[in-house]
Amino acid sequence: MSADRKTLLVTGGSRGIGAAICRQASEAGYRVAVNYVSNQSAADALVAELKGAGGDAFAVKGDVGHEAGVIAIFEAVDQAFGRLDAFVNNAGIVDAKARVDEMSVARLERMMRINVVGSFLCAREAVKRMSTRHGGQGGAIVNISSAAARLGSPGEYVDYAASKGAIDTMTVGLAREVALEGIRVNAISPGITDTEIHASGGQPDRVARMQDLLPMKRAGTADEVAGAVLYLLSDAASYITGAILTVSGGR
Ligand code: NAP
Repeated sequence: MSADRKTLLVTGGSRGIGAAICRQASEAGYRVAVNYVSNQSAADALVAELKGAGGDAFAVKGDVGHEAGVIAIFEAVDQAFGRLDAFVNNAGIVDAKARVDEMSVARLERMMRINVVGSFLCAREAVKRMSTRHGGQGGAIVNISSAAARLGSPGEYVDYAASKGAIDTMTVGLAREVALEGIRVNAISPGITDTEIHASGGQPDRVARMQDLLPMKRAGTADEVAGAVLYLLSDAASYITGAILTVSGGR
């Protein structure tokens, strides 16, 4: 029965790493809510693909950078699925290459609003639905951090790296906060992964330019990151919480 199947919401699930997570989750039997913010055709195409392969999925538009958007996303999932078993805090942005001494308040506030405040608000809504303290059945949360949190991204985007540092800390703290409430909270820390995010930051050649500097001489794929996410969501990871798993090819 469809109603017995586990459900998953992925913010920014329509493209890149999020889309790979949605594909693998759908294949594993999850019913999947695919969030996006502006590119409706990419979200619709993915949902059609998942449904065509026998999955149960829908697209939900909403900006994680605004509280009303976050609430609307989770309410759409309530309405469509009536339960939330797994949540991936994946939506995130970079910005144009800049030094800290060039960064405007507007840039910094946008970066922190989407990557940090948005992730907190989404985690809040997920916990309200999953926690046994709130009458939920438990669940699993995976936050998508970045190796940038460790490397700092000098000369490129220290603000982005710092936003991911906040995600690492949130992962550890929230994991301990809800450990007795049936919820596991972990993070994946990807290295350079071949998606469109680099072009969105004005560096479409970033993967090609950087790959010779990487230990494996190649970037990761969205599927390689998604595989680790699916593992952390699964019962095979039942004793793993508060962990930050690096998927960076040794970087
Ligand atoms: P991507 O290819 O640029 O895809 C971004 C996705 O997030 C799209 O679905 C986009 O929706 C959505 N999105 C953007 N802003 C949003 C907002 N305000 N509210 C809701 N959804 C929003 O990105 P990606 O490379 O897959 O990155 C996914 C995550 O991995 C991010 O958190 C990123 O920081 C992290 N990460 C990426 C890399 C890498 O090298 N790619 C490395 C480390 C960490 P639309 O299609 O509507 O725009």
